Amino acid sequence: MPELPEVEVSRLGISPHLVGQTIAAVTWRCEKLRWPIPHQLIQLEGQKIVAISRRAKYLFIETKAGSAIIHLGMSGALRVLDADFPAGKHDHVDLVLANGKLLRYHDPRRFGAWLYIASGERHPLLEHMGPEPLTDAFNAETIAKRAHNKRLAIKAFIMDNKNVVGVGNIYANESLFKAKIHPLRPAHSLSNLEWQCLVSEIKAVLATAIEQGGTTLKDFSQADGKPGYFAQELQVYGKGGKPCPICAESITEQKIAQRNTFFCDACQR
Ligand SMILES: [Zn+2]
Repeated sequence: MPELPEVEVSRLGISPHLVGQTIAAVTWRCEKLRWPIPHQLIQLEGQKIVAISRRAKYLFIETKAGSAIIHLGMSGALRVLDADFPAGKHDHVDLVLANGKLLRYHDPRRFGAWLYIASGERHPLLEHMGPEPLTDAFNAETIAKRAHNKRLAIKAFIMDNKNVVGVGNIYANESLFKAKIHPLRPAHSLSNLEWQCLVSEIKAVLATAIEQGGTTLKDFSQADGKPGYFAQELQVYGKGGKPCPICAESITEQKIAQRNTFFCDACQR
């Protein structure tokens, strides 16, 4: 499933091919992904793309009239191709450019989304979202205040978009391991020092993943490129029963808030 780093790498991969270009047409081959595809998307036709931005895991193709909002869901991927490149079975949406190229959306499981928002409007999906993890708005002081009195397990707390966006399951597991914090600790029990450590590890694991994904940037404009997902070096995620890389004790696997959780009982307190 594409997580925040994959979405950010997708943004970086498609941006140079799109910004400054004019949209000739928007076409789609199915009525519905996760939600119905809105007809307002045709209002983008004739508009110039001014920016590709991201909020949480949503991408925005911005024009003066409005923006296409894209979510990659479970299996979505974007690619820039020649406009006459034949569409395959799971190629659901094309944003055709006036320069003979197109942005093609591929999504076998169809849990993704293409939506439209007019300039100056706010989309309800984006209400009540916490800060972006890689900005200064996400810091130990603010998040500690939010966690005050919260008995929720710290892992579930940092995975809640209302507190901070984009900390998916892999990154929650990895950052808690690196910060040596047990995933079942109540959120309010972390000390200021522990918050500083956890916030900095969350930023580091996400930034490292985006950096590793940088090697896939050229794939976004190649017909045979793989979707923008990439293998990452993981310390505990998916390694239940294997030795902890720090102390060699066996890594515990347990469900927390319905999500697979991996941690070292000896290292994480
Ligand atoms: Zn350990």
